[in-house]
Amino acid sequence: MNSEINRQKGFFHDLEVMTRDKRDKYLWQKMKDLLGFAYDNSKAFRTRMDKAGLAPRDIKNIRDWPLIPALPKKELVHLQPAGPDLGGLLTCSAGELRHVYLSPGPIVDPEARHKDYWGFAEAFYAAGFRKSDIVQMTFSYHFTPAGLMMEEPLHEIGCAVFPAGPGNTDGQIEVMTRLGVTGFVGMASFLKIIADKAENKGLDLKNDLNLEVAFVAAERLSESLRKELEERLGMQIRQGYGTADLGCIAYECPEKNGMHLSSRVYVEICDPETKKPLASGETGEVLVTPFNPAYPLIRLATGDLSALEEQACPCGRTAPRLKGILGRVDDTVKAKGQFIYPSQVDEALKNLSGIRSWKLVVTNPDGRDRISLHVLSSGGIDSVTVSKAFQDKIKLRAEIIVSHDEAGFHESNQKIEDQRIWDQ
Ligand SMILES: [Zn+2]
Repeated sequence: MNSEINRQKGFFHDLEVMTRDKRDKYLWQKMKDLLGFAYDNSKAFRTRMDKAGLAPRDIKNIRDWPLIPALPKKELVHLQPAGPDLGGLLTCSAGELRHVYLSPGPIVDPEARHKDYWGFAEAFYAAGFRKSDIVQMTFSYHFTPAGLMMEEPLHEIGCAVFPAGPGNTDGQIEVMTRLGVTGFVGMASFLKIIADKAENKGLDLKNDLNLEVAFVAAERLSESLRKELEERLGMQIRQGYGTADLGCIAYECPEKNGMHLSSRVYVEICDPETKKPLASGETGEVLVTPFNPAYPLIRLATGDLSALEEQACPCGRTAPRLKGILGRVDDTVKAKGQFIYPSQVDEALKNLSGIRSWKLVVTNPDGRDRISLHVLSSGGIDSVTVSKAFQDKIKLRAEIIVSHDEAGFHESNQKIEDQRIWDQ
């Protein structure tokens, strides 16, 4: 039905193609306005600044921004219960909001009344959604913001939405075929369940279903799953990164080479401990400042790890790109003065055949950090090769312990264990 539509080209608004210089000025103006407003209207933010002995006039330019103390996401749970203004985090009363949600944590997620509050419209346009698409929304509409959060941008673009929510695979397939649904929003793993079941029912995934475009989120998307689904269903699948506190942070374009930062946020990649920005391209914690005066979560430390790619993208969008979500801060360890991330170890070992799994353990038997890398081998790998690969990539020495016993290598276990004992 929509095969004439060009899902690859075009932009939702011209903020996506600002020059570097213009972008910096635009961001700084937004940051400065938010800073002043939050200081005057959010008790929680003012307290945070006062404790650091800072006032808005001390933040004179974008380079001063990291002086503002970060707000770790975990702290929201403790800050929020104090009163209907969410512990002074909100700058309006709860009754003035459009929706209020509750996410696991438990964390309250406010939604103010302004247009495209969660900011996903440019992300959905970049993913390929266009006016007159009929879209099946399979995120939940209850308690958490997911369903309504993802529905809003579709209205902005001019799509019709079927509010399916999760589950009920048979019903989902019936709606898809009867309405000629062209777009899917939800988890990629659920799209696979739908595709498998539709095929088992004897449906032809390309002819009986009319799917052309999907936006997926909320779980890690492997390239193999994406490729499989794109081929089987004859559609394009793009992903985005956002949270229930912050809304849209970054999203993929047709090029599929990382996620462009949204024009509605300022993102810093920081040292997980000091929360100070790292050099461009380094892996660190994602800190986000959404330009949202109603709920000004300035420098929210997400606990997610990523790195920035600054090189120009062929799609024409000028915002830097996040190189995917590379793990969680909680799964990392700082040993010998350096952070080690699970994704780095994966990268170091990826070209070595014969390694089925690994686990990194850090101890400090004599007060000095010792790193042991346990590898589960299916034979043919020697510790010298592993040691060299680890050191080449991570620039630290590790004791390599090759094992043939699967015990201790379960996928659900933490890949990095900090077993150091500290003096009180
Ligand atoms: Zn791009």
